[in-house]
Order: sequence, then C-alpha cells, then structure tokens
Amino acid sequence: LMSKSSSSSSERVKVIVRCRPMSKKEVNQGHECVVTVNRESGEIEVKRPQSTTSTHSLYNNSGNIPELKLFAFDSVYDQRIPQKQLYDDAFRPLVDSVLEGYNGTIFAYGQTGTGKTYTMEGIRDNEEEHGVIPNAFKHIFSHVVGNPNRQYLIRASYLEVYQEEIRDLLSKDRKQHRELKESPTSGVYVKDLSTYLCSNFSEINDLMTRGNKNRAVGATNMNEHSSRSHAIFQITIEVSEQWPDGQNHFKVGKLNLVDLAGSERQGKTGAVGERLKEATKINLSLSALGNVIAALVDGKSTHIPYRDSKLTRLLQDSLGGNSHTIMVATVGPASFNWEETITTLRYASRAK
Ligand code: ADP
Ligand code: MG
Repeated sequence: LMSKSSSSSSERVKVIVRCRPMSKKEVNQGHECVVTVNRESGEIEVKRPQSTTSTHSLYNNSGNIPELKLFAFDSVYDQRIPQKQLYDDAFRPLVDSVLEGYNGTIFAYGQTGTGKTYTMEGIRDNEEEHGVIPNAFKHIFSHVVGNPNRQYLIRASYLEVYQEEIRDLLSKDRKQHRELKESPTSGVYVKDLSTYLCSNFSEINDLMTRGNKNRAVGATNMNEHSSRSHAIFQITIEVSEQWPDGQNHFKVGKLNLVDLAGSERQGKTGAVGERLKEATKINLSLSALGNVIAALVDGKSTHIPYRDSKLTRLLQDSLGGNSHTIMVATVGPASFNWEETITTLRYASRAK
C-alpha cells in the first residue's frame, strides 16, 4: 500500500488566484470587467475586450488569442472574499505546518496594482483588512499562548532583493548589500542578516513597520521602488517540548512571506541603460522563480534551477523538499489589463 502521509509535490505547491474588484477610476473611465471567477470549479475566465475604441497598443497583436480563455487553479477568489476568510481558507494550513517544523513560502505574484501588497499586508490600520502577514503574526502568537507546555522562540528578519542585490531592511546600514553564503550545516544563508527575537504580535508588527519605512528610504518614488523589488519577511519558529519519556524534542520551521516585484514587462517601453539593466534583473528573478516552481511541480526534474537568481537561492530551503509553497497570483478585472492578466494566469498555470 502507498503511504498516504507523504504528500505529493502537487499538494506541497499550491497556486491560487485572486481577482481584485474594479477600482472607482476603472469604473468611471468606463472599462469593462473581463474576468469571471468561478469559486466552485476553481476556474477563471478571461474575455477578450470588445471595445475597439481603445487606442491601447496591447490589443494590436491579440488576434491569435481566443475570445474566451479558461484557466483552472487549486482555488480562485473574487472580490467578495474577506481578508480573514481568505487567510483561514488558503493560508492557515501552511502556517500550521510551519508551527509543526516544516518550512513554508507564500508569495504574491502579479502586475503592479492588482493587489499583491493588499493580499500580503493589507491595510494595516484596519483589522478587517489585515492581509496574510499580520494574520500570520496573530495566528502564530495565539498558537504560542495556547501551547504553554511548549517553548517557542520566534525570530524575524526582513529583507529585500532589488536589482539582484540583497538588503537588510532591519539593519542600520541598510544601504550595504548582504552576501549570500552557503555552509554544509546551515545551507544557504544571508551573511550578517539581522534577526530579532519577538515575543508578541506588537513586537513583530513593529519590525514590519520599521522595515517598510527603511524600504522607502532612498527611493525617489516608493511605488516604483516597490514594484521593482521583492520584499521577504522571514519568520523562524523554534519549538521545544518535553515528552513524557523526559526527552526534549526540538523542531524548527521557517516561514517566508514574499511580496514580489510587479510582473509587468518592465523593459517593453524602450528602456535603455540602467533602466534596461534593472528590467532584465527583475525579470530574471521572476522567471527563475517560475522555472523552479515548474520543475518542482513537474516532479520528474532531477535538476531544480535554484542557482539562477538571488531570490530562488534565498528561498531554496523553503521551496521543494518537505516545504509547502503557495503562490497567490493577483489579477485585475479591467479590460485594459487584459493582456497582462492573461500573462499572469499563464505564468501561474505553469506553476500548477
Ligand atoms: P500591488 O501591490 O500589486 O501593486 P496593491 O496591493 O497596492 O497592488 O493594490 C492596488 C490598489 O487596489 C490598492 O488601493 C488596494 O487597496 C486595492 N486592492 C487590491 N486588492 C484589493 C481587494 N481584493 N479588495 C479591495 N481592494 C483591493
Ligand atoms: Mg505593492
């Protein structure tokens, strides 16, 4: 008999899609909604925009894409899903597994403006709209409080990858690049990365706030910066518990919460020089990530190309193996985003 306890790679890598509502501006400008989400079947349907009045260049070479494109995923969500419910439905089991000593990664992938930050962080001063990260903080610390027989050590780090350089968002000299190192005992790690011990929600939440402020320092345009860099909040959870036999049992799990750079093709509008170099690097990390996930899901690949980018090297011990991964692909429903929406769903389908 096959063992049911060992989950297959397809159970360890999940891809879900979230479509945000039409924004006021999109409604006012008369854009049509071209995305239909079917929660029951896990399908998402994208309709080719009807409007021929659009002067948008994206529609020009779209003739070879059928009028309706259908994609299927592990789960799909539309604007009606509240943040908390999404957390419980899609992410809570992964964080539970980290509390049990597994590694896990949740990342948000999608075009700028489609809801990556809304999904990962949410609106921080409104509890109803807290995203995955603050909900994970709450979940972790309520678990700790609920298990007084176990000792927990919770540590956090916050870093970003910008132009294939790693920066520590919680360090004083955050301009300094951090090196990736590899050791036989601890695997791939970031040298001199600062980590903080946290004993409650507000301590870990303050780290997030501090890191976000540091992220903005030096950026001339914060929106532009965040759309070009990958932000990774890392939580390491060590648990020790004394069993009835008197022995101490120890396990450690790591959770990576990643708000990826925008997936839009940065280089398409005639970028040159620094801009083009930057564009190439952003696309490099995202395409390397896509390749790693696709190889993991395929299950037959003997070579997983972790080494192709900083992002995938950094996440190496939390992607594949016994780790659990959820990719949440975010899309917008408006007609003018149509081509980017299709591109995002194709990327996500490859990872499925
Ligand atoms: P990204 O990080 O992908 O660039 P944001 O998370 O900043 O996108 O979202 C863009 C805008 O859309 C923000 O004003 C955000 O509050 C809003 N938004 C995104 N997703 C949703 C959603 N599911 N429900 C309501 N508003 C959303
Ligand atoms: Mg964002």
